[in-house]
Amino acid sequence: MKNIYDFTLSELEIYFSQKGEKKYKAVQVFEWLYKKRIHSFDDMKNISNITISDLKENFQLESLTVLQKQEDVDVCKFLFGLSDGNKIEAVLMKHDYGNSLCISSQVGCNMGCSFCESGRLKKVRNLDSSEMVLQILQVEEELGIRITHLVLMGIGEPFDNYDNVMKFISIINEPKGIDLGARHITISTCGIVPKILEFMDSGKQVNLAISLHAPNNTIRDKIMKINHVYKIEEVIEAVKKYIFKTNRRVTFEYILLKGINDREKDAKELSTLLRGMNCYVNLIPYNETSHTTYQKSNKETILKFYDILKKNHIQVTIRREFGSKVSAACGQLRANYEEE
Ligand code: SAH
Repeated sequence: MKNIYDFTLSELEIYFSQKGEKKYKAVQVFEWLYKKRIHSFDDMKNISNITISDLKENFQLESLTVLQKQEDVDVCKFLFGLSDGNKIEAVLMKHDYGNSLCISSQVGCNMGCSFCESGRLKKVRNLDSSEMVLQILQVEEELGIRITHLVLMGIGEPFDNYDNVMKFISIINEPKGIDLGARHITISTCGIVPKILEFMDSGKQVNLAISLHAPNNTIRDKIMKINHVYKIEEVIEAVKKYIFKTNRRVTFEYILLKGINDREKDAKELSTLLRGMNCYVNLIPYNETSHTTYQKSNKETILKFYDILKKNHIQVTIRREFGSKVSAACGQLRANYEEE
């Protein structure tokens, strides 16, 4: 039985039309789910008993289980259990501009980036759209807040689960539902070129972030397996096309790893690579984990790297560090939980 949170408004409209019922029933159901946040079909008060029985027969309305919740002042990390026993993570970050939630898109990840915890568990399966929707609903309910910004930067590669991710975006975009604006959503990819181009053609106003992490193939090959499939030039070429077609600014994420990609010459090479593009670089201080030997660059190195980009007219920010206390690096919470 399909979870009702997997359905877009238009799919529910089709469902009711095919039963010979009025389409507006779909809007009513959507409002019960996403505006009033009910947990049982019986609570849908303005809907007839016949329709409620029908819904119960055809849909389930199951949530995620909160297995663990680690709270700090400005960050809260959740470990969720799925109905088949798999586990995923989501992290809520409180910024001055609003509440940003980082969600997972897959159970495990096959991209095999050597610095990342998520990939230590190979992909078990894609998340359904409903399992992404429910990460939002559950965090909002647990913390009694509204999420204003969403990033797909948790466990998994969103472009390796393209169809479910796009459907998920349609569901949360819907004004009759959660109504989260596309411009407040960011998808992060390690650089799956054909999907970057497909995304470009989708017409969605969602932000795109690219996990670049290196200025050339020599370094990128060593730390990111995906670079054996799509070379850095191909990624940059696709992003240039994307910017040209959508007129949107792209973010490049760049984790600084001590002695690996944080040298002055790397900053210079990165500046040359990105020159003239409508983009900005987000420098990410590495969140060290016990399973890799990578180290975080020291403060001076980070600032030096930042300055070189600035001098070369590349827009750049240094990511604020959240929750090293709460194992906020991707996949850490799940990994620690499994080990306990
Ligand atoms: N697969 C997608 C989205 C998930 S990763 C992608 O690769 O973009 C989200 C971001 O967190 C990526 O930029 C990733 O490289 C980064 N990240 C992973 N492990 C990290 C760590 N230990 N410290 C800091 N950033 C990390």
